[in-house]
Amino acid sequence: MSEEYNYDLVVVGGGPAGSSAAFAAAKNGIKVALIEKENSIAETVRTSGVTWIKSIKEFEIPENCYHPIKNFSFASPNNEVTISDSIPTAAVLDVRKTYRWLSEEAKKLGVDIFVKTNINDVIKDEEQNIIGVKGTRAEEKITFNSKVVIDATGFTSTISKTMGYVTQWERFGAGAEYEAEVENIDPDTWWLMVGQEYTPAGYAWIFPLGNNIVRIGVGVGKPESDIDPTQRLKEIIEKN
Ligand SMILES: Cc1cc2nc3c(=O)[nH]c(=O)nc-3n(C[C@H](O)[C@H](O)[C@H](O)COP(=O)(O)OP(=O)(O)OC[C@H]3O[C@@H](n4cnc5c(N)ncnc54)[C@H](O)[C@@H]3O)c2cc1C
Repeated sequence: MSEEYNYDLVVVGGGPAGSSAAFAAAKNGIKVALIEKENSIAETVRTSGVTWIKSIKEFEIPENCYHPIKNFSFASPNNEVTISDSIPTAAVLDVRKTYRWLSEEAKKLGVDIFVKTNINDVIKDEEQNIIGVKGTRAEEKITFNSKVVIDATGFTSTISKTMGYVTQWERFGAGAEYEAEVENIDPDTWWLMVGQEYTPAGYAWIFPLGNNIVRIGVGVGKPESDIDPTQRLKEIIEKN
């Protein structure tokens, strides 16, 4: 069995780029399909969720989706500095809640959301223009014909690779993060730490989410360093 659908716009990837693109397009009355390969939107979280309140407000994201930050502390092996705002300008998102809110708002505006749908190929016309995508859902073939396709598959860049626009990213960041309940944490201050103690090419962080919850993570630049961020994060936590 196979399924076939027709849309003005097909957005492949239900991360922040895809969900917000679908939301914005639907606001303009466009018939949109948002396609995500995982079981639900934001099943896997791929960010620490730090962003700017100005951007949050542009998307009208509700206040219960983020925790404002006033102080930005930076630590290097020999120095520490804190920059403070009187009014918070940055925030740490409840990532899953925010992405699901975005996709739900898109759905309310008429966007059809297809989860568990893995896109693995594009459909081209005789002039090699992209006119749709195809893939599988529950092991059945599925086809989406569309005037426009947005590749919002993130790092995998499935559509762009299939079209030959990109090959493999040469430089990228890989990270690992724990979300933990801790004592005596300042909820208004984030920390960014650099230096060999943390990571040879990148930085480590502590981002508070309020209610004594923090995200503690480490990011490693590739190919500069071959360190496994998960292993390095475990070492940092054990040492401190
Ligand atoms: C450790 C770490 C920490 C970070 N912290 C921050 C931060 O604090 N603030 C910040 O602004 N940025 C941060 N980033 C960057 C941020 O994660 C990315 O910029 C962001 O996730 C990109 O969003 P996206 O929607 O383009 O892609 P993604 O978030 O990768 O979403 C892509 C979606 O497409 C789906 N998909 C992929 N392939 C297919 C397919 N073939 N068919 C269907 N669906 C598919 C995936 O399942 C996924 O849901 C961080 C990155 C890392 C690695």
